[in-house]
Amino acid sequence: MTSKPLFSAIALTLFPEMFPGPLGQSLAGTALEKGIWSLKPINIRDFATDKHATVDDKPYGGGTGMVIKPDIVDSAVEAAKAQLPGAQVIYTSPRGKPLTQPLVETLKNKDLIILCGRFEGVDHRVIEHHEMLEVSLGDFVLSGGEIAALALLDACVRLLPGVIGRGQAGKEDAVIEESFTQTSEYAGLLEYPHYTRPSFWKGMSVPDILLSGNHEQIKTWRLEQARKITQARRPDMWTKVVDTKE
Ligand code: SAH
Repeated sequence: MTSKPLFSAIALTLFPEMFPGPLGQSLAGTALEKGIWSLKPINIRDFATDKHATVDDKPYGGGTGMVIKPDIVDSAVEAAKAQLPGAQVIYTSPRGKPLTQPLVETLKNKDLIILCGRFEGVDHRVIEHHEMLEVSLGDFVLSGGEIAALALLDACVRLLPGVIGRGQAGKEDAVIEESFTQTSEYAGLLEYPHYTRPSFWKGMSVPDILLSGNHEQIKTWRLEQARKITQARRPDMWTKVVDTKE
């Protein structure tokens, strides 16, 4: 494909070898090869100005660890912006907005410049200066932003047309029916359980209903399962489902 990719991303990182990493495999990897999307890592260290290529310094106010310098990050962001004008700049951060499916749905429509932190993080001024959107992978601390960036990109890329469907009728339903998708009768619910052949395995049978061929009843059963599993595992999500149905 020679036309412009549907989605382009630049990762600003001290470890450019981590990209595309797992996104070079499977569906995302095929789509990357086809030019449906593009991903380029930029090494933050390339913008260091001293002979030791220093990118970090001690935190003002004391404390452990090192902080990535604002001037170095700024130069890297400016270089990325020159390559992807109009892109949304994201900083991966445990203090950020939690990465959710609705957020992914909006981010996939933009080009992204993703700053991956390391050490204690990045000088706050450069985050403010570039009005970065801080995004968190969850309430835990990673050693760097690269895995968060890869997770965010994977979630975006699989939604692009032609990535999962590959032109096969019905395949794109796989995306629509999934957990967290807001556009189906399963909106706000976790997914129902899946089964495949063999129908009898280690003493366990596949639920009879799935072998019945009755699509209406199967649909009802699946919805029921999705509701049960959400209620049991994610009371926080279940409360919202109940609230919106009322
Ligand atoms: N001092 C920070 C943690 C720094 S971890 C704190 O206590 O909040 C180093 C880098 O890893 C961060 O700058 C960030 O880019 C990345 N990171 C860590 N946890 C993350 C998470 N949950 N989501 C997204 N990025 C994360």
